[in-house]
Amino acid sequence: MSDYPHLLSPLDLGHVTLPNRVLMGSMHTNLEEVGDWNRVAEFYAERARGGVGLMVTGGMAPNREGGVFPGAAGLFSDRDIENHRTVTARVHEAGGRIAMQILHAGRYAYSPDCVAPSAIKSPISPFPPRELDEEGIEKQIADIVTAAARAREAGYDGVEVMGSEGYFLNQFLVAHTNKRTDRWGGSYENRMRLPVEVVRRVRAAVGQDFILIYRLSMIDLVPEGSTWDEVVMLARAVEAAGASIINTGIGWHEARIPTIATSVPRAAFAWVTKKMMGEVGIPLITSNRINSPEVAEEVLAGGGADMVSMARPFLADPHFVRKAATGRAAEIAPCIACNQACLDHTFSGKLTSCLVNPRACHETELVLEPVEAAKRVAVVGAGPAGLAAALALDERGHAVTLFERSGEIGGQLNLARRVPGKEEFHGLVEWFRTRVGLSGIDLRLNSLARPEDLRGYDEVIIATGVRPRDPGIETTAGAQVASYADILTGSVVAGERVAVIGAGGIGFDVAEFLVEPHPSPTVRPADWRHEWGVADPAERVGGLGRPAPEPAARQVVLLQRKPERPGRHLGKTTGWIHRATLQAKGVEMLGGVNYERIEMTGLRVSFGPERENGRLIPAETIVLCAGQESERGLADLLIAEGRKVHVIGGADVAAELDAKRAIDQGTRLAAIL
Ligand code: NAP
Ligand code: SF4
Repeated sequence: MSDYPHLLSPLDLGHVTLPNRVLMGSMHTNLEEVGDWNRVAEFYAERARGGVGLMVTGGMAPNREGGVFPGAAGLFSDRDIENHRTVTARVHEAGGRIAMQILHAGRYAYSPDCVAPSAIKSPISPFPPRELDEEGIEKQIADIVTAAARAREAGYDGVEVMGSEGYFLNQFLVAHTNKRTDRWGGSYENRMRLPVEVVRRVRAAVGQDFILIYRLSMIDLVPEGSTWDEVVMLARAVEAAGASIINTGIGWHEARIPTIATSVPRAAFAWVTKKMMGEVGIPLITSNRINSPEVAEEVLAGGGADMVSMARPFLADPHFVRKAATGRAAEIAPCIACNQACLDHTFSGKLTSCLVNPRACHETELVLEPVEAAKRVAVVGAGPAGLAAALALDERGHAVTLFERSGEIGGQLNLARRVPGKEEFHGLVEWFRTRVGLSGIDLRLNSLARPEDLRGYDEVIIATGVRPRDPGIETTAGAQVASYADILTGSVVAGERVAVIGAGGIGFDVAEFLVEPHPSPTVRPADWRHEWGVADPAERVGGLGRPAPEPAARQVVLLQRKPERPGRHLGKTTGWIHRATLQAKGVEMLGGVNYERIEMTGLRVSFGPERENGRLIPAETIVLCAGQESERGLADLLIAEGRKVHVIGGADVAAELDAKRAIDQGTRLAAIL
């Protein structure tokens, strides 16, 4: 019997049977906007080949005013239908099924033309929306219905009507954004009229043999959200109007509670969908932070849902389902929920990809072809850059020797995995270990490679990483100064009061390590909900409770020289979570600082170019998180000998190094050697 009997059991929808309970949730990739529809088709086809039960496309606008941004892709004309047919044909050829998401952004549209039930600006957009009149509302419904009919014509197996996350339909549902007094506002019956009408008219337009998923916000996590009774009432009305499946939406985009970031516990919101089980007769899909077949199986076996939606895990590994079904679950590349190459890219207008799998959305361009003549390749350093290069070279058929100075692989990932809220990095290191074990790579741990060890290879790749930068601050002898590595590995235990020098990604990580309890709330879901104020929507409107963070383990001050708010350059979609976490723990964050001297009793600083307002920040321990420098000793020795070497990762460029760049660079080099 399979290890995942619930996950891999078919789901009968009447006119069609899905082969398993896995939905690839909607993700906006920006590929459609690039206009290379062959590439879009290959992205989905690769996932269809991987065995997923049903896929949902990124959100397609039903009209110009509903696009998430000006120029957002949609189904506006017959030409668009042809483009979408390329996708559906390729998916069907690969044996898959695909539904198109219809996304009307309403007041979330980043456009001066945005429309909404009422003229109330959202806190996450600079544009106040125009309030729709009756005719305007009818036009929006008609456009959504037309988009659904075009989706059918384009060969899709269904549509998903996006009714959650605070988008247009959701904006009608709650009094917070709907102040209307006509038949589209006021009572709940009136406020839910729009979503229900949309479902009813879409069903009438597409016929019965077409999947119609309604994505319903089950917990809004914003003030004046829906009550649980309203959520259930809507679910029943949507079912009666013709939906085939209800998918779960968690939190509006403007919610100040994290819902998908790596520090959110796995399956953190599956209990919300479970509350809805039995309230409707159609299948329910649950979602958010489900990233392994084990977690998905547990949710389904516990009666939490009929189906599981995973989105980002299919960027990390298109073959998730096939591997789970063939006893190869340990080989599934794990989505670590970092958002670094997916949502952070999407919201910066860049192409979506994946930190763990740089081939995501680059399927046609980054290809690991088998080689005709194998080379002997030495890779020095088993951090993310070296591992990615070694594995991709091995996959292509080269003979790879991987030298690692320490006794374990993973490099800086081994520091990241010790940070509270970054427990997912354990799985990433474990996955690298599994893959190296299954490969033909000759791994040499505890091996400090010298130039003479690297003779006889056709290619030499140096991925020796970085070392912490010493900022050279004048220091009184005997003061306790530690590097971030000392703190994260536990070789130095910090005192009660700590000053952290440097407020980049690592400074924030270290500050969180110092103030958070161990183990972190990420692995204690009930405490995590308490900390962020996630309540039962049956008890608190919108599921919004009072945040109750645990007291800080230490008093920490986080400093930087730049005269700006610390944390401005953290991840676009996750930076606010790190700032909020530290604020909740009372961490003082200071910018515009000059480091005058490290003393026995603390850090002496002044402010601004005039070095004013000198003060001693009392601290038993000073932690240096002042960036990094390339570890290039070996590379320089080889170059001095006239040898040709490839230098990648932090050894190449230390500034702004992260695992995303390291893995991408390692894989891209391996693709061309
Ligand atoms: P970083 O982001 O470049 O930050 C370095 C910090 O050190 C800055 O706050 C900088 O601020 C300070 N600094 C630089 N030179 C200094 C000097 N000579 N004296 C005193 N302070 C100095 O580097 P990082 O924190 O080491 O992180 C390395 C990389 O890993 C980054 O690319 C980062 O994005 C990535 N990372 C990301 C995450 C994440 O959550 N996404 C987490 C960890 C690491 P001032 O110059 O203003 O003082
Ligand atoms: Fe997951 Fe990070 Fe990849 Fe996005 S970039 S899919 S969050 S691992």
